[in-house]
Amino acid sequence: MQEATQDHLIGTTVDGRYQVRSRLASGGMSTVYLATDQRLERDVALKVLHPHLANDQVFLERLSREAKSAARLSHPHVVGVLDQGEDGHIAYLVMEYVQGHTLRDVLNQQGALPPRLALALLDPVVEGLAAAHNSGLIHRDVKPENVLIADDGRIKVGDFGLSRAVTATTSTGALIGTVAYLAPELVLGQAADARSDIYSAGIMLYEMLTGQQPYAGDSPIQVAYQHVNSSVGKPSQLAPGLAQDLDELVQWCTAVDGENRPVDGTALLTELRHIRTTLSDEQLDHRQPSSTPGAMPAVPGRGDAMDQRTESIRTTAAPTEFIAQQSNPTTVLAASAPPRPGPGGIVSGVDTSTPQPGKRELKRMQRQEVKDRARAAATPVRPLREGNPRRRGVIWTVVVVILAVLAASAGWFFGMGPGSPGTVPEVKSKTVAEAQQLLRTAGFQSEPRDVFDDDIPPGMAVGTEPPPGSQVRKFQPITLFVSKGAQLFALPGLTGGTLDEAKAALNAAEMALGNVTEAYDDKVPAGVVLSQDPAKGTEVRHGTPVALVVSKGPQPIPVPDVRGQPQDAAVKAIQDAGLKAVIAPETVNDKTVPKGAIVSQAPANGNLFKGDTVTLTVSKGPKMVKVPNFIGKQADDAERELKKLGFKVDVNKILGGFFGTVRDQNPVNNEVPEGSTVTLTVV
Ligand code: ADP
Ligand code: MG
Repeated sequence: MQEATQDHLIGTTVDGRYQVRSRLASGGMSTVYLATDQRLERDVALKVLHPHLANDQVFLERLSREAKSAARLSHPHVVGVLDQGEDGHIAYLVMEYVQGHTLRDVLNQQGALPPRLALALLDPVVEGLAAAHNSGLIHRDVKPENVLIADDGRIKVGDFGLSRAVTATTSTGALIGTVAYLAPELVLGQAADARSDIYSAGIMLYEMLTGQQPYAGDSPIQVAYQHVNSSVGKPSQLAPGLAQDLDELVQWCTAVDGENRPVDGTALLTELRHIRTTLSDEQLDHRQPSSTPGAMPAVPGRGDAMDQRTESIRTTAAPTEFIAQQSNPTTVLAASAPPRPGPGGIVSGVDTSTPQPGKRELKRMQRQEVKDRARAAATPVRPLREGNPRRRGVIWTVVVVILAVLAASAGWFFGMGPGSPGTVPEVKSKTVAEAQQLLRTAGFQSEPRDVFDDDIPPGMAVGTEPPPGSQVRKFQPITLFVSKGAQLFALPGLTGGTLDEAKAALNAAEMALGNVTEAYDDKVPAGVVLSQDPAKGTEVRHGTPVALVVSKGPQPIPVPDVRGQPQDAAVKAIQDAGLKAVIAPETVNDKTVPKGAIVSQAPANGNLFKGDTVTLTVSKGPKMVKVPNFIGKQADDAERELKKLGFKVDVNKILGGFFGTVRDQNPVNNEVPEGSTVTLTVV
């Protein structure tokens, strides 16, 4: 089904090393190619997981388990695994190439095999299984398709893809197997152990001896049901004349209760070889009359056989299927097996005859007894043919189908479906569409929810809940958080308080402190915040810096010196400086400052603040003093009197001033500014 899509691999080189040459086989999960390892220049078999499974953890694990399991085993009868890896979308496994065909091909071509050949083919298979069991592995998918027969006769067990370490067998949600060879305990969803492989090997032996599988049914469910509820019949019933030991060997291996089978590969191998020695040549070469002796060589060569093999695999190979593993022992599975015409329908192979006691040594007698008990326990008390077998068969089929559908759904649900676990991918900073695609690819349904995010631009994915890397079941919805940009918050008002209060408020609002500058303010005291930028109420994201201006208090104004200036000019100068000029009510005389000019101011220097008062005192000029008349008086007296009044005296003596009398005086009888000079003319 995937053949066409995988064929493009032919001619390509995988991982720069394996050149793909031709397709050997293709199944439900993988395609096996013949390839050339270019580094070591040898042929290899390259198993490539189907592309749609290469993303699926379950199948990747299966492939890697096969690699690891086989790597633990190095045995001539186990297909060697050489390498494993991933190249882009391709997950692959490199094996030693076994050029030849499979046991399935032999059975298709030959039908029933003579016991000698059947035992010769089974022996190496059981030896390979024994090696696996001894290293703690169970194969879990033993069937003719997985037995490779090389052209040179070497026989190898392949496809350890389902194998498990024995200790891990109970922890699985779903198992994979092939219904025709499936041990009852696996049908019932119980743990597999080495004896499950023994069961499959027993079925294979039955098929080799008779040319048919012991159980046939119209559906895989019917076949699986018989594994649990019937006992495999004696091969001699279909191939009359077969040695009784072979009947016993088959029935021992295929006991419904694993307790009654050989304990592992080694135990079976010992018994197989022992029986082989006890059979006569006649018994070993016994042929079924209906079989076609000599139709094909036992081990066909290459060429045509190869082509037929590929063809036959496509049409009749028993596919490996997923099977729901359930604790409910009555539930079965859903799978598809090739419908095979088999005598007896559902009830074929039920053996109700009494076994003949063996005539061999004691050990064998004891074993026989165990087998007898097992068979008796597994055999229905009443033969199914009694009553109305057809109706009962229909009822059973219906019941089993219903249970199977339920079980298969549960298995699918928890194995591959919505119940299977997946890893939540990282979607941060992707677009919503990309994020949803990533989640869908990982198997999840996502529910977008808008959230604020300071870092992720609007419309981009922020993250998920559960977070990336979580292991969750796929039905669990994943919340995909989508950014609607940063959340904006209105800035608090920061003015009117101290700088420290503003810092605390910024902190509380999760904002940052921006530039802080100082400015004079006539009304706001020093240390109080005058203004903020952005302003109160502006919507900003967290962490936005807010600039503050802090008051230094009122600006000091140096007092201008206006002394000596005329009153009007002085007042204007004071007012221009932002101060208030007040004229003192008293004017004063001043010898030097002219009338109407400023004699003094208070304060006269230092700093004031805006609107403060400067008081100005205006001059009324010098004081006027009346000059008395000293004409005719003694000059000395006159000079003394005038000086007493504050005048300066200038004496102008005529003819030597002989008489000492003031003859003339200037000014005289006048008011003059105090300190003026009075000139006396003395004779
Ligand atoms: P699957 O997991 O698909 O069952 P198998 O490992 O059973 O894969 O391989 C499927 C088929 O591919 C086999 O039946 C066989 O025909 C062929 N094949 C597998 N491995 C080899 C090999 N190492 N050499 C040659 N052919 C092989
Ligand atoms: Mg296989």
